[in-house]
Amino acid sequence: MSYLDLSISELHEALVAKKVTPLELAQEALARAKADNNNAFELILEDEALAFASTLTEPEADNPFWGIPFVAKDNFSTKGIETTASSNVLKGYVPLFDAAVIERLKAKKAVLIAKATMDELAMGGTGTTGHKGITYNPWDPKHTRLCGGSSCGSAVSVAANIVPFSLGSDTGDSVRKPASLNGLVGMKPTWGRISRYGLFPFAPSLDHVAYFTRSVKDSALALNLLAGRDERDATSSLRPVEAYESSLEEGVKGKKFAVIKEIIDSTSDKEVLAKFNASLEALKKEGAEVEIVSFGERLLESIYATYFVISCAEATSNDANLDGIKFGPYYGGKSYQEVMMNARTKGFSKLIKRRFVIGSFSLMAENQDELFRRAQRARSLIVSRTNEILADFDYIYVPAAPSVAREFGATSDKLSNEYLIADNHLALGNFAGLPSITVPLFLENGLPVGVNLMGRAFEEKSLFQGARAIEKITGLENLSAVNKKEGTL
Ligand code: GLN
Repeated sequence: MSYLDLSISELHEALVAKKVTPLELAQEALARAKADNNNAFELILEDEALAFASTLTEPEADNPFWGIPFVAKDNFSTKGIETTASSNVLKGYVPLFDAAVIERLKAKKAVLIAKATMDELAMGGTGTTGHKGITYNPWDPKHTRLCGGSSCGSAVSVAANIVPFSLGSDTGDSVRKPASLNGLVGMKPTWGRISRYGLFPFAPSLDHVAYFTRSVKDSALALNLLAGRDERDATSSLRPVEAYESSLEEGVKGKKFAVIKEIIDSTSDKEVLAKFNASLEALKKEGAEVEIVSFGERLLESIYATYFVISCAEATSNDANLDGIKFGPYYGGKSYQEVMMNARTKGFSKLIKRRFVIGSFSLMAENQDELFRRAQRARSLIVSRTNEILADFDYIYVPAAPSVAREFGATSDKLSNEYLIADNHLALGNFAGLPSITVPLFLENGLPVGVNLMGRAFEEKSLFQGARAIEKITGLENLSAVNKKEGTL
């Protein structure tokens, strides 16, 4: 056993008891990062991590992140450290400041050991589109399956026990979907709960800082550290931060769970359905009320198209600054237009260009009503329906993904409800800015599948309480591709 196989709270005890030092932990995490064969890293920060860890000599008993090694997705600005968002357009870009969350983690003496690979500029959900190529799912050593994305390298870091915590970002599902495919706890809090200062924007009305851990308790402890007002992010909330771990063990007696009928109806994997139903029975035994609720098929079918129009439009506008002059390599040219064209032509992959075409098209004056504004109206209908359900229920509870991680090349019918609804509903949490957490449900032929719990805005404490109850039912706390276990469902 290695200390890195432990959760943050277990590791914290070992650090406080001086059984292990931050330097030893950093050395081990770096060794594991260097031995990683899943293509999880953009940059391994050996010198920086060792230098910082060696200054940490006096344990801080009331600081669970003291000496904990962590990894950040490569779209978080890191001062003096190249940050590319896995895109050629940002090659060589070295930020002058740390993102707010990096600053906070450093201030609490957590040790950043690497920047993680991602789908280019956080667009995509496969872990295959970054400039370093495919990131592999650590659960499948033969490298035949997707890892999921866009926070692919961050997911690998935690699922391969390289670190117990990693930062990601979630605009549509980029932490919560890979969490399902990698057997992890993936948390996206309420929009505004965590400062996004220094996170490269993709689609700011949907962007969230999110993160991976291997237990619900660790997830709650991480939010204690990350949440809170930041004057540099005007969208960050003024609401006081709570002690998110304080009601974890209170159970779900009397809590009301809404299960969305259409999401279940569009899931065809019988084992996923059977285990999900078993979890419902177990929740009822714990005193929870469970009800199947119809969301409205048309609304759910619209999520994907709505997400696409809004996110591509916002991305097109935000990424207009990537012009080959302010950031990234200079490819030459006689005029501003030519310089920009060369940089953007060479710097972006096909997927990104396709999204900019969709974004520009929906923002053109003659198309705005039909596309951009219509998507905004659809979003508002979807959000109203979500909030209507959450006025009567504490949680919306559904499978996070319709199946285990897919094999490379496996095709899905993009117009089927399995794709449109069962595979893409997590964007609901981004549309409405609601807190949403994925936890592992079971292993199907040795591969994980997760469930997702979404709650009311700023009710993260209650969300963690519900997620902890599910974790107890599944018996999959501290699961990973290294800590494999059967589960109890
Ligand atoms: N998979 C979604 C997309 O392709 C979500 C991305 C994200 O959350 N960053 O855009």
